Amino acid sequence: MIVVMNIDATKEQIEDVARRVEGFGLRSQVITGEERSVVAAVGERREEYKQSLETCPGVAQVVPILAPYKIASREVKPERTRIKTGSLSLGNGHLGMIAGPCSVESEEQLLSAARAVKQFGATALRGGAYKPRTSPYSFQGMKEDGLKLLAAARDETGLAIVTEVVTPEDVPLVAQYADVLQIGARNMQNYRLLEVAGETDKVVLLKRGPSATMDELLLAAEYILSAGNPNVILCERGIRTFESHTRFTLPLASVPYLHAKTHLPVVIDPSHGTGHTYLVPSMAAAAVAAGADGLIVEVHPDPSCAMSDGYQSLDFAQFQEMMELCQRVANAVDKSFGAADTAAVNGSANGETVST
Ligand code: PEP
Ligand code: MN
Repeated sequence: MIVVMNIDATKEQIEDVARRVEGFGLRSQVITGEERSVVAAVGERREEYKQSLETCPGVAQVVPILAPYKIASREVKPERTRIKTGSLSLGNGHLGMIAGPCSVESEEQLLSAARAVKQFGATALRGGAYKPRTSPYSFQGMKEDGLKLLAAARDETGLAIVTEVVTPEDVPLVAQYADVLQIGARNMQNYRLLEVAGETDKVVLLKRGPSATMDELLLAAEYILSAGNPNVILCERGIRTFESHTRFTLPLASVPYLHAKTHLPVVIDPSHGTGHTYLVPSMAAAAVAAGADGLIVEVHPDPSCAMSDGYQSLDFAQFQEMMELCQRVANAVDKSFGAADTAAVNGSANGETVST
């Protein structure tokens, strides 16, 4: 159920409703909108709970949430969520550009990529220190040494760090270094990992599993949200189909579909979504045109020598060209790639949800 509060409901009235919800043995979550607050009451729905909540002071109405996911749904929060952490700001008109190598490989590789992507307009740096690889014999990542290099790159460039965490046990360590915890496609339904990421105050970038439906993606997001973390970014990175000319099939309709169903920002990954460098710029531009809130793109100083995913990585000149194209498309849809405002850059590195 959603308890919709009056526009002039007081903080005490909202807290009282949340307390009453918890008293029924339901989970409560206060969602503060621009105009009014709502309290999501998640759990068994009973007529007597509804009637009791309707009589609470400050309550406008109590309505059922029809979607299987609750806190993620637009029924609970019609306004788009904007997520800010350090230099990254995306959602509700703000475009984020997360760029960098697939894997952190060395100080020189990472710092040169960080400087280049920053110069050409990236608003966050990506780089995997823990790599979930299809083969156990492939490069598994530099682990904590890679995290240290990412932190050094943030110190030098000011770019927020997006990096993957693959197990619940690693969350505390990765969260010490990262601004954004990436949960990869292979782990989208690792429910314990989602819960543990939901217990942190870091932004979580949740990638769609290659065979997951949209409802499954949104229910995976719900695990993070219901654990108390409102800072979730969804990422479409392509799904597995019968088609083999691309590594995955990248459905851009996911962007307007998700925008219709959820208030959470949506990012497109044209690198994994296509698996070929030459296809990345067009799909990046198309994603911006389709209304994506951001992009995550693989960029490497020398893709031919990359230890992972070189065949889909851009070099610096290709990234610059892609950014110029995406900027032009962004202008056409009244958006811009921009760093977060100064207060956020200088403020806490932790995620801050902004309802707009
Ligand atoms: C990655 O971002 O390098 C990655 C492993 O992505 P995905 O989880 O989408 O395969
Ligand atoms: Mn990759």
